Amino acid sequence: MRKIFLTLFLLFVFSSTLFGSELIVTVIDVGSIGDSILIQTPRGKNILIDGGFTDLGEFNDFWDAGKDIVIPFLKKKGIKKIDIIVASHAHADHIGGLIDVMDEFEVGEVLEPGYPYTTRAYRKFLEKIKEKGIPYSNTKRGDILDWEKELKVEVFSPPKKFFKGENACNNSSIVIKLTYKKVSFLFNGDIEREVEKNLVENYGEKLKSTILKVPHHGSDTSSTVKFLKMVKPECAIIPIGKNNTYSFPNSGVVEKYEVLGIRLYRTDLDGNVSIRTDGIKYEVKTETPHHFGRTSLKEQPKVVGGDIEKFYEYAEKGWTLMKNKKFKEGIEEIKMALEINPDSSDARSKLGYGYKKIQEFKLAEKEFKKAISLNSKEFYARLHLGLMYMYQYKTYKTDIALKLFKECLEIEPEGKYTEMLREKIEDLGKEESEEW
Ligand SMILES: [Zn+2]
Repeated sequence: MRKIFLTLFLLFVFSSTLFGSELIVTVIDVGSIGDSILIQTPRGKNILIDGGFTDLGEFNDFWDAGKDIVIPFLKKKGIKKIDIIVASHAHADHIGGLIDVMDEFEVGEVLEPGYPYTTRAYRKFLEKIKEKGIPYSNTKRGDILDWEKELKVEVFSPPKKFFKGENACNNSSIVIKLTYKKVSFLFNGDIEREVEKNLVENYGEKLKSTILKVPHHGSDTSSTVKFLKMVKPECAIIPIGKNNTYSFPNSGVVEKYEVLGIRLYRTDLDGNVSIRTDGIKYEVKTETPHHFGRTSLKEQPKVVGGDIEKFYEYAEKGWTLMKNKKFKEGIEEIKMALEINPDSSDARSKLGYGYKKIQEFKLAEKEFKKAISLNSKEFYARLHLGLMYMYQYKTYKTDIALKLFKECLEIEPEGKYTEMLREKIEDLGKEESEEW
């Protein structure tokens, strides 16, 4: 009798350490554009949100995050079965990698928004679910998902009627709040500002979460200040690979998280980021030593005491005006923003851009230089100052332009402007070696 008791006791101890009572969420570095997040529940379930990028050769076939990254990662963890796959939305950088994952692992069920989409990757994704006979359903706002007794899983979006317009697919993303006792996570695919606004209006304080998955890879289409102030996360994680040609995350967005005092992790710099929690405390681990946002801790902008919402209201309005070629009006807005937060290198850089466009080159130069002095990793100020020195005859400084472009490539070796920068560097190099 005693022996049986002892065995049972040992079994209990063993299983409680094996399965623990910990929730582990890992944001996987999928190398390129894309999300993939593994949730390991306290009772040992494996839930995978998204699987990174591949479009099966539709537009390019250089990258297959499913085969190259996600599958090896799951295997290394000793995972044999995925209980639930959540496909946040139909874009190839989210569902692409899931197709191979479904081939490789037993999958309990697949959840996705069901937004009507016609790409080859999405069609293949649906075909694979059918082929494998995996239970499949759509989820919508208001659903409560039964993942495990101790976990509260609420679906906040998409609403019953999908958003319309050119960002409709991103805006159809499943938004889930996962709560384990006192620690909560907000997962949100690629939602953009329209959905953020809608969530703030519909859920308000309920959005508050300990940890935020940054929407849309840190693009400036998302992370509006009103949304961030409502979610009020202690830390946030951007899933984005080094080799992305979108120049994500946007440097202004990175600055915004820092200004708001939100600890920011990004998989392009930190590698896989995992959060372990017993529901009370949590611990964040990064694959490589944590990189404090843009640069070093001491260089981070001060958390501004002033009306930061107002600052972003002016700054965002100013930038929108400039994008619509209303430079003079844009400049006025950004100047008002800078009165609130003079240390914003992003706003300085945008102000410089506005001055450059109305040919106030001296003022532009001053703002660009100031932006660079505020942030040693400031990209756009270097880019535009370099272009100004290269092309505006009154400010020709081609040697400095060359230096600035080289610095740009160091800051962002792979991005939207990489090819253009390489060309300019080559052109300027040629000029240097010409002999007279
Ligand atoms: Zn995406």
